[in-house]
Amino acid sequence: MQIQSVGVVGAGQMGNGIAHVLSLAGYDVLLNDISEEAIGAALDLIRSNMTRQVGRGKIAEADMEAAIARIRGTRVLSDLGATDLVIEAATERETVKQAIFEDLLPHLQPHTILTSNTSSISITRLASRTDRPEKFMGFHFMNPVPVMQLVELIRGIATDEPTYKACYAVVERLGKTAASAEDFPAFIVNRILMPMINEAVYTLYEGVGNVNSIDQAMKLGTNHPMGPLELADFIGLDTCLAIMNVLHDGLADTKYRPCPLLTKYVEAGWLGRKTQRGFYDYRGEVPVPTR
Ligand code: NAD
Repeated sequence: MQIQSVGVVGAGQMGNGIAHVLSLAGYDVLLNDISEEAIGAALDLIRSNMTRQVGRGKIAEADMEAAIARIRGTRVLSDLGATDLVIEAATERETVKQAIFEDLLPHLQPHTILTSNTSSISITRLASRTDRPEKFMGFHFMNPVPVMQLVELIRGIATDEPTYKACYAVVERLGKTAASAEDFPAFIVNRILMPMINEAVYTLYEGVGNVNSIDQAMKLGTNHPMGPLELADFIGLDTCLAIMNVLHDGLADTKYRPCPLLTKYVEAGWLGRKTQRGFYDYRGEVPVPTR
């Protein structure tokens, strides 16, 4: 089937990036959030990120204006019923995602494909609570969406081949590369990445190193472009903790237990860059380690 219009639920870090790349690829985008402020901020950010791309000669100004004109923000979830594909990119909490799908289902057309950008939650379980498990998939973008090449496509147990192929075609039209993952907790990228980040937090918790030494060791010692704690701040510490909990519960193995220090940062509301404080404090000119 041919996809032309896409609904994006959640206008946070990921939702704005997803709307950005979809609109540039020529899709009509409806961007939904419960927060009017989040929608406004996302639209502003899309414009400023695209303006930077124009400045670097990556896209033409006319293409930017055409892309922006293809995005419409809405607080009304049922508006997304008119789209061919929905990508849910709201907060990483299963109850939140489930409520969104329940509210959306009565408004969807029969052919609409439902997907989630979840980093870790079971696609099969999310799909089983909808009226279309065969048309449900994981559509997992990486952050920042306009920059990162990979999209993980995750089939639930019931996902049919036409649905997979339609989503694969969207990834191709975005100029990105799809990696296919089976539906087990956190899929491929986060199954490997998050335990590394969690171990970095344990290394900090146990005093093996401080924030600077841990990040520098991993950057210079393993050629990672960002240190694990810097990366955790970038992803969002609440998202990192949520993924560790999914791994811990879903695989029932104590090796995935979240570090108590990660929990403490989240309880403090120090969620990383998005709240201006995490393993680093971003409120000044340069990031300052908080430990
Ligand atoms: P975020 O906190 O930046 O944004 C979440 C947005 O969802 C917020 O704007 C919030 O208002 C909105 N929201 C909450 N409940 C809603 C509802 N009922 N209806 C509509 N909108 C609602 O989070 P994020 O980092 O953008 O993550 C979103 C999803 O993408 C999560 O599932 C996360 O696991 C996944 N993801 C995140 C990353 C990352 O690096 N941050 C990478 C890949 C995937």
